[in-house]
Amino acid sequence: QHWGPHEKYGYNSYLSEKISLDRSIPDYRPTKCKELKYSKDLPQISIIFIFVNEALSVILRSVHSAVNHTPAHLLKEIILVDDNSDEEELKAPLEEYVNKRYPGLVKVVRNQKREGLIRARIEGWKAATGQITGFFDAHVEFTAGWAEPVLSRIQENRRRVILPSIDNIKQDNFEVQRYENSAHGYSWELWCMYISPPKDWWDAGDPSLPIRTPAMIGCSFVVHRKFFGEIGLLDPGMDVYGGENIELGIKVWLCGGSMEVLPCSRVAHIERKKKPYNNNIGFYTKRNALRVAEVWMDDYKWHVYIAWNLPLENPGIDIGDVSERKALRKSLKCKNFQWYLDHVYPEMRRYNNTVAYGELRNNKAKDVCLDQGPQENHTAILYPCHGWGPQLARYTKEGFLHLGALGTTTLLPDTRCLVDNVKSRFPQLLDCEKVKSSLHKRWNFIQNGAILNKGTGRCLEVENRGMAGIDLILRSCTGQRWTIKNFIK
Ligand code: UDP
Ligand code: MN
Repeated sequence: QHWGPHEKYGYNSYLSEKISLDRSIPDYRPTKCKELKYSKDLPQISIIFIFVNEALSVILRSVHSAVNHTPAHLLKEIILVDDNSDEEELKAPLEEYVNKRYPGLVKVVRNQKREGLIRARIEGWKAATGQITGFFDAHVEFTAGWAEPVLSRIQENRRRVILPSIDNIKQDNFEVQRYENSAHGYSWELWCMYISPPKDWWDAGDPSLPIRTPAMIGCSFVVHRKFFGEIGLLDPGMDVYGGENIELGIKVWLCGGSMEVLPCSRVAHIERKKKPYNNNIGFYTKRNALRVAEVWMDDYKWHVYIAWNLPLENPGIDIGDVSERKALRKSLKCKNFQWYLDHVYPEMRRYNNTVAYGELRNNKAKDVCLDQGPQENHTAILYPCHGWGPQLARYTKEGFLHLGALGTTTLLPDTRCLVDNVKSRFPQLLDCEKVKSSLHKRWNFIQNGAILNKGTGRCLEVENRGMAGIDLILRSCTGQRWTIKNFIK
């Protein structure tokens, strides 16, 4: 892939230099928000920006925007945490600029080594003195009135973690795109995603109301400073990127707090097209996700292992020491994960019926695995093994054989399952719930044995046609054997 010199940060920094640091972005709040009144006597906020190798103009626009759109008497200070950037312009030039432009208002914290975004935020928290702390990526812009509703909700109840609604600053032209009112959910890999607000929010019919959310995207959140300390901040054992946003959501809900998105408070964030610091954030997200699973998820932790296609025993990833986080959970007397799923994230799909999972290989075909193939074809195929989502097979107690990345919420389609429809010699991939005939979606399978359809008695086999390739077919059993990578217990 080729990136222009002005795109090394994942956005158009050349264009950024031409846009005013004091520009105002469109006000996308629901109309009613503009009529709401707030107490004059709100707590002060310390705004913390973290960055590593970011365009100077983009950081400065974040700072200008914070100052311009936060009432001065509510802004205690701005803290810039430099997570050991390499860029020279982010050293003296940055510091000289902010000291001159905003004397006494801005503190700069420099990490002596790269700590990753989780510990960078913790360093910012340590330097903060305001009653409230707000954490933001250093490529955001605020809108008028963003702070008052947030501070007011925390003043009412210090155990609320508040997320301004996120809009998108397009990385190529810096236009701001309004995003729908959403809660923040996640998949079982613990990748975050926007989800529809809960039903009671829609039923209330008032778009200015707070939206209950199971977790957060993470680029923008506000929390009472001392309360954040009491619940153990973010997990300092996490490296680089990912997982901390889910951990905080689970933790506050289980340990006596709550998390909500405020449609009346809006912050726009540049969704970059690449990360300037690490090209393997998948690895770190995976590792951090396993820490979340081990500390918080009780009997559901297998879901995270299944989603990443890792064996439950010896997954081969050093997640570090989680004993302190487990002790924290105990000392805070937190509820269990089942409660959280039932009450806070009920739309999340559960996969407790799993017996075995991972790539499925046939003894007659080397190096190829069962694969979901092109989405639109609705037929399973064979494809060189890589073990990612499209090859994640899942055999259930009911005898279903699902294929594809684990599903997320019930509003989105579930992973499809293998069906013998009698007519075709190719195995179909269909929505299991819509298949009427119960037997044609059930398979007999034990490790290193045949995969045999209970309805037709046909076996799932490979047919090697030499130069013409290799097919996955259904036919009378010839004794081919299949092995699946991982087992539950
Ligand atoms: N970040 C950091 N140290 C790291 C990686 C990221 O301080 O090792 C900062 C980064 O500069 C940004 C924030 O963490 O302000 C979130 O990262 P990014 O914006 O790349 O994530 P995204 O918002 O795209 O998910
Ligand atoms: Mn970001």
